[in-house]
Amino acid sequence: MPVAGLHVIILGAPGSGKGTQAARIAKRLGLRHLSTGDMLREAVARKTELGAEAESYMKGGLLVPDDLILGLIGEELKKDETRGWILDGFPRTLAQAEALERLLAGRGETIDRVLDIEVDPELIVKRLASRRVCPKCKAVYNLDTIKTKVRGTCDLCGEELVKRPDDEEETVRRRLRVYEEQTAPLIDFYRKRGGLVRVPGAGGIEEIFAEIIRVLK
Ligand code: AMP
Repeated sequence: MPVAGLHVIILGAPGSGKGTQAARIAKRLGLRHLSTGDMLREAVARKTELGAEAESYMKGGLLVPDDLILGLIGEELKKDETRGWILDGFPRTLAQAEALERLLAGRGETIDRVLDIEVDPELIVKRLASRRVCPKCKAVYNLDTIKTKVRGTCDLCGEELVKRPDDEEETVRRRLRVYEEQTAPLIDFYRKRGGLVRVPGAGGIEEIFAEIIRVLK
């Protein structure tokens, strides 16, 4: 098993399964799971100043401005330098990727692996239409593929599940366009930089997880 202290980035379109896989990888390898989407949703729920600024972008399926995101992730990365991390949903623009390089270089740290989960956009629209999330413990389910024991209730904490407002079809299609325009160029950026591994994301969760663990070893 890879050592703790690993620095991993997971790329992939919204709905590619990167959040689900990132949570599993973090658990298996003892890494911190840093999801900018989760951090932002928490800021919105807690009605912080950042949450108020980010909310309208998120609802519209647009990216939150780079400076807000960099402030957020910069603080998190400072917190623990020994355990390692997996970044989920960050970086999402070239400017963010370049800022991350500078931040890590300043501390003598590097990125060990960049995973890119590839999924057909039409499969993503279908998947996100049936995604349900727990607003309390952040667990993610799917009406077709990750069913709960009691319909509509979180297996882990008993909270009532919700559909994310940005999982409505029109917003999903906008998020996919934003991904193609602003985030997909990162694949080339990391390919040139080295350490990029592409993983097919159309299969089952276990199968994809096994492949990721294989490539991380
Ligand atoms: P996610 O849960 O990763 O799909 O993120 C949900 C929403 O949060 C995105 O659609 C964006 O509006 C916002 N967001 C999350 N991470 C970032 C980021 N790195 N840069 C800009 N916006 C982000």
